[in-house]
Amino acid sequence: MSNLGGMPTSADADRPSVYVETYGCQMNVSDSELITGVLSARGYRSVAAPQTADIILLNTCAVREHAEQRVAQRVRHLIGQRKGGRRVRIGLAGCMAQHHREALLARIPGLDFVVGPDGYRHLPDLLESEEAFAEVRLDKTETYDDIVPVRGESVRAWLTIMRGCNRFCTFCVVPYVRGRERSIVPEVLEEELHRIAAEGYREVVLLGQTVNAYRSGGTDFGDLLRMAASIDRIERVRFTSPHPADFDDSSLAAMRDCNKVSPYVHLPLQSASDRILRAMDRGHTVDEYRRLVDRLRDTVPGVALSTDIIVGYPGETSEDFEATSSMMEEIGFDHAYLFKYSPREATRAFKIEETVTEDEKSERLARLISEQEARSLHINQGLVGHDVEVLVEGPAKRQKHWLAGKTAHFKTVVFEPKTTPVDAARALGELAKVRIEAATSHTLRGVEID
Ligand code: SAH
Ligand code: SF4
Repeated sequence: MSNLGGMPTSADADRPSVYVETYGCQMNVSDSELITGVLSARGYRSVAAPQTADIILLNTCAVREHAEQRVAQRVRHLIGQRKGGRRVRIGLAGCMAQHHREALLARIPGLDFVVGPDGYRHLPDLLESEEAFAEVRLDKTETYDDIVPVRGESVRAWLTIMRGCNRFCTFCVVPYVRGRERSIVPEVLEEELHRIAAEGYREVVLLGQTVNAYRSGGTDFGDLLRMAASIDRIERVRFTSPHPADFDDSSLAAMRDCNKVSPYVHLPLQSASDRILRAMDRGHTVDEYRRLVDRLRDTVPGVALSTDIIVGYPGETSEDFEATSSMMEEIGFDHAYLFKYSPREATRAFKIEETVTEDEKSERLARLISEQEARSLHINQGLVGHDVEVLVEGPAKRQKHWLAGKTAHFKTVVFEPKTTPVDAARALGELAKVRIEAATSHTLRGVEID
């Protein structure tokens, strides 16, 4: 596995150190690995805590205002802790950096630099000067093909297969801060998949904002799934996030044919009112979504499903909201990420007057959370007494000597291993057969069996 936490040598001590903290989606986790790759190729070493770093970099999210507020607070705190003596430079990277650009330098006193998602390649050169800088040009062609990411220690490797987004859903800032869609050529991805396998990762997650819209020459997303599944030492292949309107027969056939492709799909719905879906410009109707779910279930029996929902989009009536609540029940999602609408500057919806009060949004959100908790609990309890295969990720957090991992359907399992105490390092990345004995809405508990 990668040596993020590798033993320092005396030569290491002279190299500048960088600490990267990541916010937001998996795409950002993957980008942080890219940033670390860019910097380590130029002699930087990464450290696991801000206290010992020469460069502190927060890789940020701009999707909701709350995400930005959290980062603003954190960066002010880090700046406040900076003492005289050693020069420590603090910067913001990623979507929030791109969203507010150089204005952040004025707004956050003491901030040293701002770098957007297409600027990471230039970081080492820019850091050579002592000046503050904002590198926020979007680059239609940047795919970082030649950069080898420095991946974290895990059973799971992230692999960005496309950058940007062309869809411009009315509420979403992503196309503005990540630019237009660009697919990475399959040759580069194949090489990266082999590297991932050789480094010992057992699961690969293909990433993109509309991951299933991938296309490069004659290669489509289905071909990529097959390619990833054909790599020997990789046990599981997942992907996120597919767009409902981009699911084609090729991807479905690959899911059907490749046992290694996880029977789990995160399929953002946002709303189950046709009026609201149209207002959001999502590119599909409720019924088209329903039919896609039917096709997925026919193709991959027992497929687990999760979704994203936004409550309180401008114009959302209580009928629209009830339609979303019913549809979630009808589909029976295993899990859902639920959000209150947050107006984002630059988006088309930003100009539309809000009609749902903060209190109403909170009420609608609380309703969906409690309904989903009950649903997840019910679905998980249905697994009690069943045997599942768990890809072990490490020791369980709360239960001494127990292990934790995920099923192919992406359920979290904590279990008692056959032999205790267990060699946790050896268990990392192993597949264990577990009989489920109990379930909560978030976790399954069980014992390892033969
Ligand atoms: N590309 C993905 C979504 C990326 S953003 C897709 O289309 O499937 C992740 C989620 O954040 C979205 O699915 C949406 O539910 C939520 N989101 C995006 N913009 C938002 C906003 N302005 N307010 C609230 N939630 C938002
Ligand atoms: Fe945002 Fe829509 Fe693109 Fe997803 S598909 S990133 S929600 S614009």
